[in-house]
This record gives sequence, C-alpha cells and structure tokens, in this order.
Amino acid sequence: MSLKLSLLSHSKFKGVDILLTSPWPKDVWNYGNPPTEANLKSCSALVASAAVSLKPRYHFSALQGENYERLPYRNHAVLQESAQHVSRFIALAGVGNPDKKKYIYAFTIVPMRAMDAAELVKQPLDVTENPYRKPEKDGKKSQAARATEEEEEPAQQFFFDLSKQQGKKRHSDGRGGQAKQPKKHPQPTGPCWFCLASPEVEKHLVVSIGEHCYVALAKGGLTSDHVLILPIGHYQAIVDLSSDVVEECEKYKASLRKFYRSKGKRYVMFERNYRSQHLQLQVVPLPLTCCTTEDIKESFIVQGQEQNLELLEIPQHTDIKQIVQPGTPYFYVELDSGEKLFHRIKKNFPLQFGREVLASEAILNIPTRADWKACKLSQEEEESQAKSFRREFEPFDFSLQD
Ligand SMILES: [Zn+2]
Repeated sequence: MSLKLSLLSHSKFKGVDILLTSPWPKDVWNYGNPPTEANLKSCSALVASAAVSLKPRYHFSALQGENYERLPYRNHAVLQESAQHVSRFIALAGVGNPDKKKYIYAFTIVPMRAMDAAELVKQPLDVTENPYRKPEKDGKKSQAARATEEEEEPAQQFFFDLSKQQGKKRHSDGRGGQAKQPKKHPQPTGPCWFCLASPEVEKHLVVSIGEHCYVALAKGGLTSDHVLILPIGHYQAIVDLSSDVVEECEKYKASLRKFYRSKGKRYVMFERNYRSQHLQLQVVPLPLTCCTTEDIKESFIVQGQEQNLELLEIPQHTDIKQIVQPGTPYFYVELDSGEKLFHRIKKNFPLQFGREVLASEAILNIPTRADWKACKLSQEEEESQAKSFRREFEPFDFSLQD
C-alpha cells in the first residue's frame, strides 16, 4: 500500500495506465459480464481496493489461470462527479496452457499524460458501473418530501373504473381476474387521477390493460396517437417501480415501438417526476422523416439551456435507478433507440417542457399544440380516436398475445 500512498500524494494524480496484479480483484465482475470458470473465492479485496485508488486504464491479472475480459467500467459516479477515464480488467490464462485459453493480450496504448483530456475520458457505449462501489444508501429525503407535498397538476387527468371494464381479452392462464391487482403497492394519500381502480370514470381513453400497467390516450394529446404508459397501482416514478412493473413497462414500450415503426414513426418517451403523484410515461410518436435522433436530443438540450435547465445524456446501459434516489424530482427523456437524457429538477421546472420541445419548430413544428388545453376534444371525438387506436394497436399489443 506504500505504492498507493506515494502515487496518491501527487495532487494531479488521475490514475495509472497499467496495473499488473497476481490475484484477481474481489467482485470485479459486479455489474459486468460474469466470468465463466474462475475460482472466484480466491480473489483479493486488497487488490480491489488498490484498483479503486489507482484507477488503472488496464488492469491485468493471471493467478486464476483463466481468460476473462470484463466490460469497461467507470471510475466516477454519473452526474455526481466529473467524467474520468474508464478501466478495463483483463485476466489471462497461463502461458502454453493445455486448454489453449488466451494468454497473450496485444494492444497499443497512448500514455494518459500524453492524451487530450476529453479523449481520455471518452466513455465507450458498453461502459458499466464501477464494480467496487457500493450503491449509496444515505437516503437523502429532503427533496422527496418536497416533491410529494406539491400538488398534482390538473392537466391531462382522467378517471377509469376498473369494475366497469368490459369485453377485454384477459390472460388465459387460469388465474382469472383476481390477480390483476398487484399484490402490494403504495396507496395514494388522496384521490388519484391515474390509479386504475379510482372510483370516477373516463374509461374511454384506456386502450390496453396489462397485469401491472395500462396504456391510455393522452387527454389533449400532442398528436392523435400520443399515449401514456401508467402503472395500475399507485407509484410516483419509474425509480419507485418494482421489477415486475418495470418489466411490463418494457413490454409496452417494445409493443408501441413496433406499432409506431409500422407507421413510419419513432417515439420519444418522457417522464416528469415533479408535481405529479402518479407515474405517467408520455409516449409521443414522431415521423421518422421529421428528424433524426440527434436532432431530437439536441432540441431537448438546447431548449433546456435556454431555460437554464441542464439536460445530460446518460449512457444507454445506465439504469436511472443508479442516478437518482427514489423521491428525487427529475425530468427524463428516452428515445426508442435507447438513448437517454436526464435533468435533476431543482425548482420551478416548466411543467409542459417535454411537450413544448416536441411541439417546437425544430421537431413537429406545431407550437400552438404545446398547450394541451388547446388540443382538447369532445368526448365523442376522444372515443372514436381511442377506438381506432385500439383496433390498430391490437396486433402489436403483447397483453393480447397468448
Ligand atoms: Zn395513483
């Protein structure tokens, strides 16, 4: 550990280019691709701790006699620390081993002191979390408390009565209608406009119901095929969802993606976890010809800057749960190609921001539709819109497949 001390005492120490250790660092496979055969018990916590401090760009080990190349991992916490270079862990087998496992690794490396800072911290697409970092458990709840005290925004609300649901094909797995309510989920403190079991009804906007989530046309939608994915139970944000609910959201996203693609469109999804008690994933389809994913990202980022809101692109393989604690207000955008933008809300976030960006000249160029109230339809019009959406979506709807 004297090596660690001598290096870390340099104030400008960023890391080392290459680290060679005999044992593998303990837990190096966390968050990454698992090794296949290695004897994972004889890995060293001391070596792991050295890797944390020394931040090697390449870390080689050999003691296990196995070949293993871990996906690159980050040395910084996303959005909390400034970007640093990534580390790659590579284990090689013994020279001339009888099983012909890889024991040579050839590569070229420019020393980091000779590298441009931006080039050095470039993050590859398959970068993962740091395997040695424990997830934060400090439970900062100050912002959480503030967010739940805020009142639900009255826009785009509707009721739906589960008891009056009719004529819907359900899962034919013999569980009947009893299992439709999630076993356990948080209860709303007052009347909630989006809990599917709420007593008041405007059920005509609902277009699909799964086990944990449902899809409804947005009231006053930006386009006629703008929908919301909502959890059936009362959850405030994506980061609060249990894994089975997340899984079903993903299925709806995949179904919607195929559906919109069949119409020559891609969707943009956004969530505003601020002044909202029940999660609404807004899904707005855009013609593929109207703009590229780069255009869309740029519009969010630039129009955010104009309002002093910093939207950051987060790596595709980063789960939003790794970035925010439950209860933290945020605004989140996801393209159907998997690209993601994130903004941590401090205060006074413009409630219609997502809609405004998509309605702007740069994207759909329908600025007068940015305000949902300008797009309200009569109940008859809503009914027929939902009906035709249901009919067209049916072949793509996973909840209707056996
Ligand atoms: Zn609710």
